[in-house]
Amino acid sequence: MLNRRRPTRAVNNLCSTELRLDDDLRARFDQIDTLLAGAVAESFSVAAALTESQVALATLAPRWRLAFAQHDGKGAATRAAIIGITAALERVFDKFGPDVAGQIRAALPMRAARLLDIPGPDDNDATAASIAADVDLSGLDDLIAPITAHLKAAGDDSGRAAFDEVAFGIPTGAARADAVDQLAALTGKLASDRAAEMVGRKWIDGKLVDNPDSEHAISDSTRDMLRDVISSGLYQGETAEQIEIDILSSTIFSPDRAALIAKTEISSITNDVALGAFRQAQGLGIPLQKSWIVGSDDPCDDCAANAADGPIDLDDTFSSGDDAPPQHPRCGCSLVSVTPADDNASDVET
Ligand SMILES: [Zn+2]
Repeated sequence: MLNRRRPTRAVNNLCSTELRLDDDLRARFDQIDTLLAGAVAESFSVAAALTESQVALATLAPRWRLAFAQHDGKGAATRAAIIGITAALERVFDKFGPDVAGQIRAALPMRAARLLDIPGPDDNDATAASIAADVDLSGLDDLIAPITAHLKAAGDDSGRAAFDEVAFGIPTGAARADAVDQLAALTGKLASDRAAEMVGRKWIDGKLVDNPDSEHAISDSTRDMLRDVISSGLYQGETAEQIEIDILSSTIFSPDRAALIAKTEISSITNDVALGAFRQAQGLGIPLQKSWIVGSDDPCDDCAANAADGPIDLDDTFSSGDDAPPQHPRCGCSLVSVTPADDNASDVET
C-alpha cells in the first residue's frame, strides 16, 4: 500500500509543480486543446456533409438509380488520349501553319488585283472567302492516323467502364462477351470515321475521299478563321506579308486551339461510346434511359434545356437535337444512364 501511494503522490506533486511553474507548457496544452477542439468540430462537419450526401442519395434512390457517371473523360487512358491528340495537332499546326499562311500570301495580290475593277463594300469579304476556300488543307490529313488511335484508346477506356457499370447484372458468358466485342467494334468505327471527318474526309472502301457533309470539321473551322483574318487584314489595308503574319500569330494554329479541339473530340467519343454501351446492355435485357448532366453551375441555355429533359429513351434526342454531349466546344456535360425503378416510379416529383 504505502509503496504504491508514495510514488503516486510524488508524481502528482511533480506534475502540479511543473505545470504551475511552466506557463509556457500550459500555453502549449491550451494550444493542443484548441487544435483538438477544431479537429473534432471539423470531423463533425465532415460527418454532417457525408450524412447530407447520403440523404440526397437516399432521396434519389426510390426514383432512379444513377447507374453510371464515370465515363466523362476522367480515366487515365482518356487523359493520355487528350494529351496525345493535343500533341498531334500542335505538331501538324507547327509544320503546316507556315505553309498555309504562305499559300495565302501568294494568293493575295492576284485576287486583290482581279477585284480592283469591281469596287463595292463586299469586295474584301468576297476576296477573303474565295482565297480561304481555295487553300490546300490536305496537310491536316497527317492527323488522321494518330487521332484515330487516341480516339480509339479513349473510347475503349470509357466504353469498358460504362458497360461494366450498367451491365453488372449480366452474367459472364457468350452474350456478354459478344456485347463487349460489338462495343469495341463500334468504338473502332466511330474513331476512324470521326478522325477522317474532323479533317473533312471520309473512308470509302479503305480509301480517303473528300466529305462535303463533314460536321464540326476542323478543316471547315480553319477556313472560316482564315477567311476572317484575311478579310480583317484587307479592311485595314494590310499587305499580303502583314496578313501572313496575322495568320501565324492568330489562334488558328495555336496550342490553345489544339487543346480545345482535343478536349471536345474526346468528350464526343467518350459520350458516344457510353451511349453505345448503354444500348448493348439494354440489348441484354437491362432497361435503361439516359440523362444529360450539365458540367458546370452555369450551363448554356441549350445544355440546361437538355438536362431539364430528364431521362429519355436511349434512341431519343435531347432538346438541342443531340443524342449525347458535347453540345458545343468547351461543353463539360456528360451522359449518364438511368434505370427506371420498377416500383413507385410515378409518385415521386409530382
Ligand atoms: Zn454542355
